[in-house]
Amino acid sequence: MVPMQLSLLCTAPIWSNDLRGAGRKMGELTFTCPTTSQEFGTGYRFTAEEFQLVPTPATITVRCKQCRQLHQFKIVVGRIREESH
Ligand SMILES: [Zn+2]
Repeated sequence: MVPMQLSLLCTAPIWSNDLRGAGRKMGELTFTCPTTSQEFGTGYRFTAEEFQLVPTPATITVRCKQCRQLHQFKIVVGRIREESH
């Protein structure tokens, strides 16, 4: 399997919302900052179904909202924080 490298340095979601069915429950992809141990949101939103389809080797590089450094995570170690409506 070819490792998939996602370099997502901008804050805007790259996955188009147009392709998504209405009514799907989406949540924000969040990680725990390794420096501060605080959770932070990435601004990328997934449904639970989409998140399960993310390949295990896929990584994401995000600018941390807690310590303002860049961190690289495997996407699968993240958490989908469901948004309340
Ligand atoms: Zn951090």
